[in-house]
Amino acid sequence: MSRVFNFSAGPAVLPEEVLITARDEMLEYGNSGMSVMEMSHRSKDFEEILFTAENDLRTLMNIPDNYKVLFLQGGGCTQFAMIPMNLMRNRSADYVISGQWSKKAAQEAKIYGEIHEAASSADKNFSYVPDFSNMKITPDADYVYICQNETVHGTTIRTLPDTKGKPLVADISSMFLSEPVDVNKYGIIWGGVQKNVGPAGVTIVIIRDDLIRDDVMPFTPTMMKYKTHADNKSLYNTPPCYNIYICGLVFKWLLKLGGVQAIHKINQKKAKILYDYLDGSKLFHGTVEKKDRSLMNVPFVTGSKELDAEFCSQAEKAGLRNIKGHRSVGGMRASLYNAMPVEGVNALVDFMAGFEEKHKC
Ligand SMILES: *Cc1c(COP(=O)(O)O)cnc(C)c1O
Repeated sequence: MSRVFNFSAGPAVLPEEVLITARDEMLEYGNSGMSVMEMSHRSKDFEEILFTAENDLRTLMNIPDNYKVLFLQGGGCTQFAMIPMNLMRNRSADYVISGQWSKKAAQEAKIYGEIHEAASSADKNFSYVPDFSNMKITPDADYVYICQNETVHGTTIRTLPDTKGKPLVADISSMFLSEPVDVNKYGIIWGGVQKNVGPAGVTIVIIRDDLIRDDVMPFTPTMMKYKTHADNKSLYNTPPCYNIYICGLVFKWLLKLGGVQAIHKINQKKAKILYDYLDGSKLFHGTVEKKDRSLMNVPFVTGSKELDAEFCSQAEKAGLRNIKGHRSVGGMRASLYNAMPVEGVNALVDFMAGFEEKHKC
């Protein structure tokens, strides 16, 4: 067996400890006589897995009692529709367009109502977070939407916009559990787990009680109502049981490590290693305004498409995988999620330094 350093933006690296536990429990979970994959979702064993996962997540994120935690399916993109279907009473919402994922969310929401662009950084290919200081909130907007960490472009919103009392809805898929967040500031805070929390197939939605309502858009399918899942504790139908189990193991791993505060320190350290190198490099440079740089997704380029391609192909061979940038941005992107060890970042920077040395002009 030889495991590589996997810099994929998602699905992404998982903690080795978690994979080992999953391996050990593959044939028999506890004394159940079966794999988690084979269990009834109504069994005691699975209910315990689900409720323990929820409680551990509540501890990790310090989730207040007036918020529900929902384990849903359909990936991040399903939320782009579920949010307007459940929240739009005036058929109006404000979206901050700071990258590909918020743009996609806004496009989907346009099916259901009038979408206003509250702020945008499209003018510079989303290489910065737009200024919120004179952001206009539409008086009848049902909510304000942001993507707090733009996975493709590598920006993070560090100061939340003033929504003038409107519920703030935030996609935190690619920064889930990477740093402390104050859940109280959000109406809905949600993420697909395949970036930083578990295997693809689960979307976690943390939603304030008053936003879980019956008076959703009339055509909303039962499965697309937050209320359906909240009333049934995420067990309305068969949930993605095995994937939830793995998320639970990741939560335990994080708790053991010291929680979100502890992993945040490690994440800051890892990102600093790479950004410091980029800032001193004559060959490579980061593509994002310094103040808005993501700790999770780090895009960089050489300035030459040929060199970028050569770098990616050589990095692959050296066991530094999935370093190629998103097709809309080009260049490279290293995702430094929670489970990426510091050694992985050091190996990447050493490799970059060697490449730079060889390509000195
Ligand atoms: C990956 C990603 C999504 C989309 O997730 P899917 O599960 O593929 O639909 C949405 N938002 C952000 C920020 C992402 O990184």
